[in-house]
Amino acid sequence: MMRKILVSLAVAGILSVGPAGAVVQADTPSTTIQSSFFDQNSADDDNDFQFANSPSSGRPRADRLAIPDNTPTPLEGIKWKKKKLKIYMSTQDPQLQWAYKDAVKKWNKVKAVHMTWTDDEEKANIIAADGDLSNNTTGNSNVGYRTSELGSTRTEYNPDTNALHLATSTLDPNQLDYTNKQFRSEVAQHELGHALGLAHAPEYEHSVMIPRNIKTGITKNDAKTLRMLYRD
Ligand SMILES: [Zn+2]
Repeated sequence: MMRKILVSLAVAGILSVGPAGAVVQADTPSTTIQSSFFDQNSADDDNDFQFANSPSSGRPRADRLAIPDNTPTPLEGIKWKKKKLKIYMSTQDPQLQWAYKDAVKKWNKVKAVHMTWTDDEEKANIIAADGDLSNNTTGNSNVGYRTSELGSTRTEYNPDTNALHLATSTLDPNQLDYTNKQFRSEVAQHELGHALGLAHAPEYEHSVMIPRNIKTGITKNDAKTLRMLYRD
């Protein structure tokens, strides 16, 4: 008998928007989907949506994990219960592999959590994947823009404890293979930031977590935030 586990899914992504291949980046709002993990039907139920961005929702038990409230970069209100995390490379695309590896090195330098690569997907906490994100619909689709995501991260966590139990980051090779390698790494850093519990930063902040216009890697604010989140 399979035990039914209730987890919540949060999906956040980076978009490129534009009719002429212009790299104007946008992003989907960060949403939290409450669903029963083993019940596929309920994932599509609109009634289950709740928005993680509203400060009062979705974080009632966050104090169990000692999640700080005043970090320079905003938090999703979820975190890993441990600092040693395993990540599995599930893309074969060499450019995306490089981007993920570079992003892992850069987050490890922050010395808040330590990610190591595993060959065993079953043991992984984080999956580094690729995928076609072009069919994702967004609010922009009704004003004549064709939108497609550069990256997206889905997190699964226990809503009773707010502890992460699996994060899957996806980069879209069709969107990223013709950008430069530094940009690809920054998109990977952004997605892994979500996988570690970071939310989107407002436009005026200096952060890798600014959704619409990634122009920097991990900043001092982001490093400080992750260290606050995973402080003992
Ligand atoms: Zn994002």
